[in-house]
Amino acid sequence: MLKTALLLWAVEAATLAVLLLAMWANDRKQTVVLAWSLGFGANGVGALLVGLRDIIPDYVSVVLGNGLLVLALSCWTAGIRYYDDRKSPVWILLPSAIWFIGIHFSFFASTFWMRVFLFQCASSVGYMMVACVLAEPRLPPRGGRLTFAAISLVQSLMMAFTAIACLFARPETFSEIPNGLFYTIVNIFCLVSGILLGAHLLMSRTERRLQQLIVTDPLTGVLNRRGFLEQFHRMRSRPPAGKLMLALAVFDLDHFKRINDRYGHKGGDAVLIAFCRVADECIGTRGVFGRIGGEEFACLLHVASAAEAAGIVEAIRLSLMRQRVGLPDSDRIIIATVSCGVTVSSILDADVDAMLSNADRALYSAKAAGRNSTVLHDGKASYMVNENPHRDEQPQLSFADTGSVAAFPLPPLPPLSA
Ligand code: GH3
Ligand code: MG
Ligand code: MG
Repeated sequence: MLKTALLLWAVEAATLAVLLLAMWANDRKQTVVLAWSLGFGANGVGALLVGLRDIIPDYVSVVLGNGLLVLALSCWTAGIRYYDDRKSPVWILLPSAIWFIGIHFSFFASTFWMRVFLFQCASSVGYMMVACVLAEPRLPPRGGRLTFAAISLVQSLMMAFTAIACLFARPETFSEIPNGLFYTIVNIFCLVSGILLGAHLLMSRTERRLQQLIVTDPLTGVLNRRGFLEQFHRMRSRPPAGKLMLALAVFDLDHFKRINDRYGHKGGDAVLIAFCRVADECIGTRGVFGRIGGEEFACLLHVASAAEAAGIVEAIRLSLMRQRVGLPDSDRIIIATVSCGVTVSSILDADVDAMLSNADRALYSAKAAGRNSTVLHDGKASYMVNENPHRDEQPQLSFADTGSVAAFPLPPLPPLSA
């Protein structure tokens, strides 16, 4: 009866292993799927070897069979850690170490109940590991994870209890192992809910990836227009302490068509990627940045003043101007510049359409003033932020640094245009 159940389970586990392996072969970056496939593979072969007891040599059936069953727990634990984008440390092999070291002592190997005791101890540690990695508050689905963590904990405690009970009952056959029926029911329940949870985790991961793709620009990896606009509402509702203004800046790379003409589309793409990198570095955790058009970008910042916003945007403009963009497969260097329009609003009154329109107006003024400059529009008038506006030709590498961006002063220049 037990042997038949083990052989049936071996077939099921092997089927799951093959299915997961095929999934992994389709997308080899999914290490989690490979780890779970290896887990079911080890579990299935282990169950088969234990089920073939008396037909195959004892060493293969007892030592390797049970060893593989225990090793499966390490694979599943590793898979959950990969799911959380974490590496797998050596300690996840602890259950296998307990089994393989212990079974080579004749003290454990010579009697049936001592072998059962050793196997239950090793498996109890394994299920405890599974419960711990699931219960750590990492990636969702939280509810499903905690439920299965609780089931694994029950399984672990039940195995520890069975191990202790074996010391007293000293069974000589499988049927004499204490709590046999209860043990089997919990075991089956744990395996079935484990499979369901695994499927739930993979589906939730796929959904998260799709949601991320929807809001990400594939070339540069920054937010796309949709993702950027979504962030506006999030940033409006969660201002950090002391930053009661929201700044919106728009950027348009200067003469980008010429860059494409001179260096090819790949050269243009390299500039777009480099600009996103420097902008991201300048913004840090102060706001969000996105690509809202072909060579048009925007950022949203939590700031305390218009001067702070202008300082950050100037830092982005200057960083790009100093950047030497390497051309793929060539030793040529591209120097690009950007025009920037920025506007600010109190966080309570912030309206995305009005701010985009003000920032666009400022950007238009920056282009009209000779490009490679930053203009602030405060809702009434536009002000040139940088000091020498007319430098359309070559970037001025000696242009003054902004120093501390928060302290960057707005030059008291007259309005360019209303
Ligand atoms: P201005 O200084 O007035 O902004 O001039 P410009 O040449 O930058 O502006 P224009 O709008 O005339 O040209 C934008 C160019 O950007 C045209 C388009 O081919 C190019 N572009 C748009 N998206 C991409 C992209 O993803 N990669 C590359 N390489 N070029 C792009
Ligand atoms: Mg443009
Ligand atoms: Mg342009």
